[in-house]
Amino acid sequence: AKAAGRNNVSFFDPAMQARVSARAALEADMRRALVNDEFVLYYQPLMNMDGTMAGTEALVRWKHPQRGLVSPAEFIPVAEDSNLILPLGRWVMHEACRQLAQWANDKRTAKLAMAVNVSAQQFHRPDFVEQVLEVLAATGARADKLRLEMTESLLLKDIEGTVEKMQRLRAAGITFALDDFGTGYSSLSYLHRLPLDQLKIDRSFIWAAVKEDSGAAIVRIIVALGKALNMSVVAEGVETLEQLNFVIAEGCQSYQGYLFSKPLPEPELLTLIAGL
Ligand code: C2E
Ligand code: CA
Ligand code: CA
Ligand code: CA
Repeated sequence: AKAAGRNNVSFFDPAMQARVSARAALEADMRRALVNDEFVLYYQPLMNMDGTMAGTEALVRWKHPQRGLVSPAEFIPVAEDSNLILPLGRWVMHEACRQLAQWANDKRTAKLAMAVNVSAQQFHRPDFVEQVLEVLAATGARADKLRLEMTESLLLKDIEGTVEKMQRLRAAGITFALDDFGTGYSSLSYLHRLPLDQLKIDRSFIWAAVKEDSGAAIVRIIVALGKALNMSVVAEGVETLEQLNFVIAEGCQSYQGYLFSKPLPEPELLTLIAGL
């Protein structure tokens, strides 16, 4: 009776109810936004250490008519908990590939690769491989310029099925990055089984690296791991010259971060490229 009483209390907890209805409202608002085409992609440069641009990462934003630009940190988790990540993820894939195909027509952008974030729900759909190949065919984007970014938790769920899907996409030329490396369920035993091309060191380690010896040691180990497994290593969230010099010295092949550029709408990215 006591436990039931507690449950009752928490069920009618006004603060919790407010959170639940706020979430439901956000979900409904996202459905409307998908129909009204309110999502946009921003592109953050991925830089080689020689100062050339290797590509960009597509990052979704919501151009809300009342709220202005809404961060994916707010709506992606809600989309992932509902089924909304499926249509949203499809839209992102299509828009990123459309952009990639358009960039192929201009010599200043033709070499750029496009990284797209993929959610677990999206990847584990039985028809994910076909969906991606269809988008490539429909947009005319080159598969070897498309890189899919996935997290450790996504990859560890059904590793056999994951490897099989990755192999089919790789056969078409698509490459893979492991996002936020080091923050997930890091189990070194699975890493060598996954056909990955790139490790992205989470920005928390880049920050720690110039502050604490232990942070520097973690970056060093990830770079060594990448070398041993034949994967390139990207430093994420580089904001200072000190951090950049550190990751160069440690042997990272490329970096992303506010030091070079925040994610930009396409016209601003083109302006930035024109000035390089
Ligand atoms: P992520 O994939 O790890 O993307 C990198 C995030 O770090 C981006 O945040 C980017 O703006 C931010 N960032 C880049 N450089 C710096 C820096 O120097 N300092 C700091 N403080 N932050 C930096 P953003 O765009 O807000 O995206 C947040 C997360 O939302 C992404 O993290 C990703 O997990 C998710 N996300 C964004 N777009 C998509 C998408 O199209 N699909 C899916 N499934 N997830 C997405
Ligand atoms: Ca990412
Ligand atoms: Ca990341
Ligand atoms: Ca992340």
